Amino acid sequence: MIVVLKQQVTDEQKNKIRDFLKSRGFRIKEIVGQEETVLGAVGTNRIDIREVAVLDGVANVIPISKPFKLASRELKKSDSIIQVGNVKIGGPRIVIAAGPCAVESREQIMTIARLVRDAGAVMLRGGAFKPRSSPYAFQGLGEEGLKYLKEAGETYSMPVTTEIVSPKDVDMMLDYIDMFQIGTRNMQNFELLKEVGKTGRPVLLKRGLSATIEEWLMAAEYLISSGTDQVVLCERGIRTYEQATRNTLDISAIPVVQKLSHLPIIGDPSHATGLRDMVSPASLAIVAAGASGLMIEVHNNPDKAFSDGPQSLYPEQFEKLMRDIQALCPVVGKSLERIPTARADVEVWTEKELSIPSARTLKIAFQGDHGAYSEQAIKRIFDEQAATMPCRTFSDVFDAVQTGQARYGVLPVENTLGGTINETLDLLHTHPDLTVVGEKQLRIVHCLIGIPGTQLDIIKEVYTHPQGLAQCSRFLATELAHANALPYFDTAGAVAHVAQKNDPTVAAIASSEAARFHKMQIIREGIETDSSNFTRFYVVCREEYAEVFRSSAPVNRVSMVFSVHDRPGALFEVLQILSQYGMNMKKLESRPIAGKPWEYSFFVESELVEESKFKEAVAALTSSCSQFRILGTFHSDR
Ligand code: PEP
Ligand code: MN
Repeated sequence: MIVVLKQQVTDEQKNKIRDFLKSRGFRIKEIVGQEETVLGAVGTNRIDIREVAVLDGVANVIPISKPFKLASRELKKSDSIIQVGNVKIGGPRIVIAAGPCAVESREQIMTIARLVRDAGAVMLRGGAFKPRSSPYAFQGLGEEGLKYLKEAGETYSMPVTTEIVSPKDVDMMLDYIDMFQIGTRNMQNFELLKEVGKTGRPVLLKRGLSATIEEWLMAAEYLISSGTDQVVLCERGIRTYEQATRNTLDISAIPVVQKLSHLPIIGDPSHATGLRDMVSPASLAIVAAGASGLMIEVHNNPDKAFSDGPQSLYPEQFEKLMRDIQALCPVVGKSLERIPTARADVEVWTEKELSIPSARTLKIAFQGDHGAYSEQAIKRIFDEQAATMPCRTFSDVFDAVQTGQARYGVLPVENTLGGTINETLDLLHTHPDLTVVGEKQLRIVHCLIGIPGTQLDIIKEVYTHPQGLAQCSRFLATELAHANALPYFDTAGAVAHVAQKNDPTVAAIASSEAARFHKMQIIREGIETDSSNFTRFYVVCREEYAEVFRSSAPVNRVSMVFSVHDRPGALFEVLQILSQYGMNMKKLESRPIAGKPWEYSFFVESELVEESKFKEAVAALTSSCSQFRILGTFHSDR
């Protein structure tokens, strides 16, 4: 059952409720949500729930209708995020685990670890105990394989996962691995699940060959009720009558599981298809269906692999797939999880720093109200827990970062429909002590939002940022033709305005996050005219914090601003330098120079080249331009 606590519940009341439930043989799990705190109570005893409902501090008691309790979405509405080493699985991120089917030798796993890490994988897989269909097939290197796996994971800073096949190995394996894998053939090995669950270590739970989704979630329930709530589910194909592929990838299991459970789900296209050429399309389908990641078999020499060679990708196939996944991520509102070697959010949120009085200086500033798209971008770039700082104007964001009230600022720089956001470029130009360190693209999905209970046909006024009005023009001209469309200074602010008016005839256009933040109702989701609507954001900070942020991902772009001498071919000369040094230009924009009528500066974004070459290019550019400045270097996914 779910015991919803009153908002003002005291610790004493909570303890009494716990003691009562314990005395009746229940196990308790507390879940602190944004809106409410609940106690999940599971046990074998029957109880009249009214006995709990009358206790002081209890707001409500709801029985859980499903046989799986701790794994159920009924118990926990928000998505669980599972931490494996320094990688997080779940939420708006796509995690790629890759590696060979089996660890074959130290050299083999080290080689493959480097290859997959370079391509963007963040976790390493590799079996040391292989439950093979034939007793005569390679059974794995056992503990020796685990040693190599651990060494490879440490060398390339990737947490490692590997399959456990026997309860007797649990303690031994704890020394080597970050995540246990329960294989398909053992999904219902309940003694194994209990022993693994007791460790509290993260577990990747593969779906049984012939298991229903309910049986699979019951297996997760065994793990959680034994002691770990760090469970990630893995759809790896089920047995059907179809023979064309090794198994049948049950793609619909992904949204079904997400509806039924708060646990993250990833997909394994390698075992699902069993055929190398099917792995990439299946991977993209898994991501498109909403999964939190993939586990993919990759081998440096698949033709000689000891096991599952035919389904293992060649390294170059894996690299290509990683690029395709990267392109797909923003479409489904996700970002690829990266290896946080010295990731900004880790650096920002160390306990020590939080305990010092200047903790406010660690905030991340954005323009708009809570729930703004810029705030969504912050949560993708840093973390769901990032402490955001709303600012009224773009200029306020720059000031907050410059004065140290915020450590980073996140600002939109370009939209695929609306074009460049000139104000950001102009402010960068006028703030030479701030530098661009990062970039993120976000898909913009607009919602029509009103107070709870309102309806489309009674709306008379709708407010949003002018860009929002332009991007939803078709919806406004057709389904909302009866309403007045009015500009507001930002999208999320428009929602706050509607909330404050508390009038069912007034609505706003903004993100679903803004609706949630203000407890408003989403009347219609996805009302933008063109669904290929992406905004790109820059992360800016003071020079002294730049390196920490930049070290979180390989820097591959440079943003520059320059003006040229007033003579024929001046711009051509500059572009020729870029060409000469192999700097692939991605964007060129001209802006009027304030105070110098009819003079212009040019903004260029270009791919970066190797350091010494780049230095030479910068020297050439500096001497050719009348003014030249690097606005920043950063990692781009585009
Ligand atoms: C594996 O991942 O190596 C494996 C054996 O997978 P499954 O248990 O899904 O067959
Ligand atoms: Mn395999």
